[in-house]
Amino acid sequence: MSALHPLTAAAVPLSGRPRVYRSTLALLLLICTHLALADPTSPTLTPNVARFVLANAEFSVMHEMGHMLIAEYDLPLLGREEDAADQLGFILLFRLYAKLPRDEIDARLLDIADYWRLEWQTPKPPPEQVQAWDSHPLDEQRYYNIACLLYGSDMKRLDWLPPLTGLPYERALYCDQEFQQASKALNWIRHARPLASIQHRAALRLTFETPGAGRDDVGPLVALLRHGDHLQRLLDEVFSLLRPPRPLTLQLLSCGAPDAWYNRNSGEMALCYERLLYFRQMAENLPRLRTPVTRRCPGPLGLRPGGC
Ligand SMILES: [Zn+2]
Repeated sequence: MSALHPLTAAAVPLSGRPRVYRSTLALLLLICTHLALADPTSPTLTPNVARFVLANAEFSVMHEMGHMLIAEYDLPLLGREEDAADQLGFILLFRLYAKLPRDEIDARLLDIADYWRLEWQTPKPPPEQVQAWDSHPLDEQRYYNIACLLYGSDMKRLDWLPPLTGLPYERALYCDQEFQQASKALNWIRHARPLASIQHRAALRLTFETPGAGRDDVGPLVALLRHGDHLQRLLDEVFSLLRPPRPLTLQLLSCGAPDAWYNRNSGEMALCYERLLYFRQMAENLPRLRTPVTRRCPGPLGLRPGGC
């Protein structure tokens, strides 16, 4: 298995096709089908777009954290690692969001499911489509998996979610059990980790590469992640929760493709600026799912719990 664990399904080494082609083609299709594109260098992100970018950037990091936990604690797995990393990523984020208003939590986690819906429903040429043999789940499966975990977190209160997302009754019926399984796994990791790691005081070092000349489009997204040390505080919380056994690094950088990975040899995680730009393009140009609260928002610039 490669030491790298890219988040998106098209990073399949066997294809010999750099991921950048897939993303470029997908974005070209977006451009062709949506004439009124927003200016990607505009410093202003609407709260709605900012929430989508932030939630999906955080999920990208937490998915890689899932790989990190599997590797650092040598966790036994029966299913595919990519499925486990998605489940751990979701449940970690759910735990980290606990202090937010519940409507805001719903909106953020729905944005993550919605990203996979948009990936699934964006037309792509056959060579760029995720294949059934891939180590990653299909985009469509990741959409329903995340939607099910969210629904399973509170099925009574989130009764609007299955009809909104199209989550079929046959799957929705047991989503509470899927959520409980993911919660149980995270709790097990917390209590089963080696004692030595509990004493460990290492931190997760966060670095932001300076964007190259002419990359004005990256600035607003970096500002979003750096605002109030937002991302660093999130990582500090993960560390206090799980105490990984060695120092780790998360680097935000330009990599030429909308990627993210964890390198188990070096202990380095990466999130590419191109991935943040990709999230922004999607959020600004494609129709999105909205929770009942966000649907009631007065206008695109309104700001209230749930984000508008
Ligand atoms: Zn992965």
